[in-house]
Amino acid sequence: MTRNLSDRSRELKRSAFAEFFAEAVEMQRSGEDVIHLHVGEPDLRTPDHIVEAAQLAMKEGFTHYTPPEGLFELREAIAEKLKRDNRIEVDPSSEVSVLSGGYNALYCAFQVLVNPGDEVIVPEPCLPQYWGDIGLAGGRAVPIRLVEEGQFRPDFEELKEKVNGKTKLILLNSPQNPTGSVLTREDMNHIADIAEGNDLMVLSDEVYEKFIYNGLGHTSFASIQGMKERTITINSLSKTYAMTGWRVGYVAAESELIAKIRSMSEHTVWCPNSIAQKAAMAALKGPQDCVREMVEEFRNRRDIITAGLNEIEGFTCSPPRGAFYAFPNVEETSLSSMELAQLLLREAQVAIVPGIAFGARGEGNLRFSFANSKKNIIEALERIRKVVKKMS
Ligand code: PLP
Repeated sequence: MTRNLSDRSRELKRSAFAEFFAEAVEMQRSGEDVIHLHVGEPDLRTPDHIVEAAQLAMKEGFTHYTPPEGLFELREAIAEKLKRDNRIEVDPSSEVSVLSGGYNALYCAFQVLVNPGDEVIVPEPCLPQYWGDIGLAGGRAVPIRLVEEGQFRPDFEELKEKVNGKTKLILLNSPQNPTGSVLTREDMNHIADIAEGNDLMVLSDEVYEKFIYNGLGHTSFASIQGMKERTITINSLSKTYAMTGWRVGYVAAESELIAKIRSMSEHTVWCPNSIAQKAAMAALKGPQDCVREMVEEFRNRRDIITAGLNEIEGFTCSPPRGAFYAFPNVEETSLSSMELAQLLLREAQVAIVPGIAFGARGEGNLRFSFANSKKNIIEALERIRKVVKKMS
């Protein structure tokens, strides 16, 4: 009965993304040949050496609780990785916590940082979970525009304008979901000045860090001079090692925050999955050519999907610099992003995500994931081209 629900849970809504996903799955179940270009996970298998580490852990009986903050050896491997790849130096005993995926890490971080009434600046379009998590912590997400003509980088003037006495935190996500944008070091320096000048914290969601195609490389916000103390870095093994189902993520930040994040974890899941933690160690310490090969494959797919989308009437798409999403502008079709996504699902059997699912600033665009085979991407583009042609 509704009257039994907490006020907090009353506010929880099923996202437009979940709705869409359910419809695509239902169509597939009833025998339709749906091509899934809406999924936000690599289609490739988790590399064998990672799977084997998990098998060994199970065989050896490593199937019990671990400390809430995760295994020390895994935190050590994360600290080594952060130093090597991200130029962030952390103490594995007090400045890192392992969580059950990036989503869990985000939830715990917002709970620990945000007070009722606090404002969090969120570049939009963005992952819808940010608003939900901020709302659950009693805060308010304040959107700023990612500018399409500026390769979906933030409107820095708007960012400065939106900062006020209630602002607690700036959220960054580079490479970005859904636009595929990547912040440059200059962008980060700019944001660092704003954070410093207004005494703000920065939450940096870096789960797509390895998926960069423009040769710029990834800059971690905490590696910018003077920013380590202000930054909560969130990362995950999900995308880098095709491990979305294993649910291993982590947070790096100063020790006081990490102590509270560990308590949050303790009060929600106790600890991340023990077997998956062993697999994560194998991923971080093992050979990295599997990552390079995957990114190379995604680079090819990116080129195919960008070229194909630009051939569709009413679609314009600049090549994404990162992540594995293309975010074409479809305003010239004269349909809303939801209408067009529904039409393409029903008429072309291609599932994609309407831009509006990522916030009002996503309207006018569609998100295409290229985490699917080249064959399927080419077939999907052909089907869409035919359906859109019929419209004109
Ligand atoms: N952050 C971003 C920007 C994402 O797109 C996702 C997942 O799609 C996550 C975090 C969470 O991923 P996971 O919980 O699998 O680590």
